[in-house]
Amino acid sequence: MTDYTNLLSTNVQKLKPSGIRKFFDLLENMDDAISLGIGEPDFVTPWHIRDAGIRALEKGYTKYTSNAGLTRLREEISKYLLRRFDLDYHPQDIVVTVGGSEALDMAIRALVNPGDEVIIPVPSFVCYGPITELTGGVPVYIDTKVENEFRLTAEELRSAITPRTKLLVLPYPNNPTGGIMERRDLEAIAEVLKDTNVIVLSDEIYAELTYGQDHVSIANIPGMKERTILVNGFSKSHAMTGWRMGYVCGPRPIVQQMLKIHQYAVMCSPTTSQYAAIEAMANGDCDVQRMRQSYDYRRRFLYDGLRSLGLDCFEPRGAFYMFPSIKKTGLTSEAFCEQFLLEQRVAVIPGTAFSPNGEGFVRMCYAASIDHLSKALERLEEFLKKF
Ligand code: PMP
Repeated sequence: MTDYTNLLSTNVQKLKPSGIRKFFDLLENMDDAISLGIGEPDFVTPWHIRDAGIRALEKGYTKYTSNAGLTRLREEISKYLLRRFDLDYHPQDIVVTVGGSEALDMAIRALVNPGDEVIIPVPSFVCYGPITELTGGVPVYIDTKVENEFRLTAEELRSAITPRTKLLVLPYPNNPTGGIMERRDLEAIAEVLKDTNVIVLSDEIYAELTYGQDHVSIANIPGMKERTILVNGFSKSHAMTGWRMGYVCGPRPIVQQMLKIHQYAVMCSPTTSQYAAIEAMANGDCDVQRMRQSYDYRRRFLYDGLRSLGLDCFEPRGAFYMFPSIKKTGLTSEAFCEQFLLEQRVAVIPGTAFSPNGEGFVRMCYAASIDHLSKALERLEEFLKKF
C-alpha cells in the first residue's frame, strides 16, 4: 500500500476540515428536520437574472471570457459600487472571480510570504486561517466580544500588530455573529493602520444585508482605499450561491498580481454566470431591496422569539445569522447542537465551528421560511425545558 502521508503536502495535512460538515452528515438521514444550518439565501435567483443566463446559453456564449471577466460586467460592477456604496473603482481594477471564495484565496496568496502574520477577528467565516496556513503565513486571531457587539476595536488591533503583520482581514458584516462595523469604528481602525504597512482584506460579501443603517466600506475612509482589497459577490445579495460569482477590487499593482493566480488556477469565471451577473448588476437593485426587507422581518421574528425564550442574544445588524448564547443550558456548543438535532430535529451550528471563542454560542441562519422559524422556536422551547 502506498503511504500517502509521505506524499501529501504537510501544510495540507495540517489543515482541519470545516467543523460545519458533521451536522450536515447527521441531517441527511432525518426527513422531518429543520435546518437553520446552511448559510445561504432561501430565495431562488430572481427570474430576470436566470433568464439572462439562459439567453446567454441560447445565443451560444459558451466560450472562455477574458481572464478578468467580461468588460461589460466589470463596467456594471464599477457603476454598482459607486451607486450603492460610493466606491469608485475603475473596471480595470476589478477581477471577476469564482465566488467571493476565490477572491479571498487569491488575495491571501498574492500577499502573504512564509512567516507573515495575518490578523483575523473571530468568530468569522472559516476560510481565512486555513488559506493563510497553506501559504506558510501565520494566522493571528483576535477574539471579538459580545459586549462590543463583536466589532474589532482599535485597542485589540493595536496589540495584535507586529513588524510581521502583512494583512488584516476585516470580515464585516460578519458571519456568524451578525456584527457590523460603522463609520466611526472603521475610522478608529484606519487610525491604527495609518503608520503601518498593513493591507486590509475587506470581505464585504454581506454588504447589501444590513438592517437599520447602510454598510460602510473601510475603502470609504480617507487614505484607506490605497491599501484595501475589497471582496464582494453575488451569492448573498442576489441569491446566486450556485452561480459561483464574486469579484475583487483593489490597487492596480495588487490586482494585476492576483490576476496571474486567477489565470493559472481558473482562467475565468463561468461564462453563463457572468452574463447573468450583468443583469443582476444592471437591474437587480429592487430584488436586493425586497430580499433584504424579507430577511429583516425574519431577523426580528427570530430575535423576539429567542428573547422570549430567555436566551441572551446580541441583536444582529447585518448578514442573516443570529448568534445566541446557550451558556444558560450548561452545555457546550457542540453538545447543544448535537442534542438539539437528535432530540428536536433542528440543525444549528456550534459557535466553535468558527473559532474556540465561539464556545457558548450557536449560529442560526434565519434565511428560512417563517413556518420553519416558528417550528424551530417551538422545538427550542421544548428542548430548553430540560434545563
Ligand atoms: N465570505 C463570507 C463571510 C461568507 O459567509 C461566504 C459564504 N458563506 C463567503 C465569503 C464566500 O461566498 P461565495 O464564495 O459564495 O461568494
